[in-house]
Amino acid sequence: MITLLCYNKKMEDDLLKLYKNCKLCPRRCGVDRTAGKKGFCQAPSDITISAYMAHRFEEPPISGDNGSGTIFFSYCTSRCSYCQNYSFSRGKKSKIISVKDLADIMLKLQEKGCHNIILLRQRIIALL
Ligand code: SF4
Repeated sequence: MITLLCYNKKMEDDLLKLYKNCKLCPRRCGVDRTAGKKGFCQAPSDITISAYMAHRFEEPPISGDNGSGTIFFSYCTSRCSYCQNYSFSRGKKSKIISVKDLADIMLKLQEKGCHNIILLRQRIIALL
């Protein structure tokens, strides 16, 4: 299932083209993710997340007292040898969610008093 968040039809069409010949990141694999093909990142076309939380302590001027509302998207295009978030970045611990689920998560983080929303590793999905 392709999940696109677009303001208009032209934007949706343009993003769909990116998925059909995926060039969402500098790897530029060119695979057709609308047909279920996977590129270097191994990500499906769905929104997949590993976790979300009020992330405290890092970058205190940004995370403040209540934390940054951080959403950890699954999969990554870097594949670093010593990745400290292996289960997240390789999709071992991931869950497919809908656009509505994603919006609800953002609202939950806002209700917790988070000062901002941070989308980690979101470049492999089309979110505008
Ligand atoms: S997002 Fe994934 S499939 Fe698309 S170009 Fe990057 S690594 Fe390849």
